[in-house]
Amino acid sequence: MTNQEVLIAGAGPVGLSAAIALASAGIRVRVFEAEKELLVDPRATTFHPPTLDMLDAYGVGDVMVQKGVICPHWQIRWHPSGERAVFDVTVLANDTGHPYRLQCDQTVLSQALLDRVIRMPEVTVEFGAPVKSVSQYASGASLTFERDGRDETVKGAWVIGADGAHSAVRKSLDLAFEGSIYPETNLIVTVKFPFEDHLEGLSGVNYCWRDGGNFSLLKVEDTWRVAIYPLADKTIEEQLTPESIEAALQHIVPQPRPYPVLARRAYRAHQRMVSKYRVGRIFLAGDAAHLTSPTGGMGLNGGVHDAINLAEKLIAVIRKDEPESLLDRYERQRRPVVAEAIIAQSDANRRRMRELDPEKRRASLKNLQEICADRDKLYKHMLNTSMISGLRQAAAVL
Ligand SMILES: Cc1cc2nc3c(=O)[nH]c(=O)nc-3n(C[C@H](O)[C@H](O)[C@H](O)COP(=O)(O)OP(=O)(O)OC[C@H]3O[C@@H](n4cnc5c(N)ncnc54)[C@H](O)[C@@H]3O)c2cc1C
Repeated sequence: MTNQEVLIAGAGPVGLSAAIALASAGIRVRVFEAEKELLVDPRATTFHPPTLDMLDAYGVGDVMVQKGVICPHWQIRWHPSGERAVFDVTVLANDTGHPYRLQCDQTVLSQALLDRVIRMPEVTVEFGAPVKSVSQYASGASLTFERDGRDETVKGAWVIGADGAHSAVRKSLDLAFEGSIYPETNLIVTVKFPFEDHLEGLSGVNYCWRDGGNFSLLKVEDTWRVAIYPLADKTIEEQLTPESIEAALQHIVPQPRPYPVLARRAYRAHQRMVSKYRVGRIFLAGDAAHLTSPTGGMGLNGGVHDAINLAEKLIAVIRKDEPESLLDRYERQRRPVVAEAIIAQSDANRRRMRELDPEKRRASLKNLQEICADRDKLYKHMLNTSMISGLRQAAAVL
């Protein structure tokens, strides 16, 4: 029998989503993860309806819903006046089993996926095994990884590079990662404070303008993740000091006591896309293939959509239900959607929130309020921002 094993670089949410989808169809999978255990990093918190629909097929959607905060609406808000446009996700009730945004840390997804795949006989996950390079030949592909200081090479039928932004698989294929880095360094803090008791009508996801800047408030379990607009006249190191963070939070809701800050971090966002999603027997997915501004919460969701799309095609090809040429459809379906519906939409979201001109903000808010007040317009807007339109657009590509 020929070796039809799929080798996956990276046990992040995207690599593990691909692993569970393939293994659920009885396909053998080996996952190679650089770290000694699952990466715990406060990044994605927003899950969109179709992602939860997809994860339901593997018994993971429920775990997320139980641990996450269900947000039937989200808003764009002017602070401190509280004027807002409130987007009602429940208009999608006939389009999804999850007509809401779910606020849940991405590590909950990774852990839920790992808990399942390690019990599946088809899957092996190797931790502490950084992938260094990949290569291929007519009937298969190989992956070289490091274990205990020594290189080992394994062979399989196909390789998926889901090894994140700095993907060794992408570099080994010498593919361009075209795009740019945004100029600002963003600050994120996790705070245990009931903002909802102080800011009237808050949703679980709030993108807020304030004088001279903006901030976001994202509910995660019993905490809030606050994305703070960086100040141009201070270095990031200065802005990450407890005093600066305290001042930024006091600006949102003045308090007699200091804020209980549980975590803080800085990050730079990129907008980039790899030049090819498929090179013969090797594929890229998730952050290894594309990076986007996190405003609107689409990067990880899009990565899971990549993983499931690719896994479905690999399953059909490995079972010989379809010819190998089907695999080219992965790139044809996913690449335009990532460019137009994920990177472009996230970029527009970021630009809107970074607008400082009060007149332009007012016009933008008025326009958004009109959308929210008109059910047809709202429905269309929610199909786009909840990533359903993009998936439909992809499905229509042959
Ligand atoms: C602040 C912030 C907020 C965000 N919010 C959202 C959001 O709300 N919604 C959303 O959809 N997206 C969001 N994102 C984006 C999201 O975090 C990423 O898109 C997501 O983590 C991508 O998953 P991945 O599995 O492709 O990559 P990663 O999560 O980076 O996982 C890659 C894995 O590969 C491993 N690895 C790396 N190199 C190697 C190697 N050489 N060999 C083997 N393993 C390797 C890593 O250790 C890691 O485990 C946010 C990002 C940031 C920074």
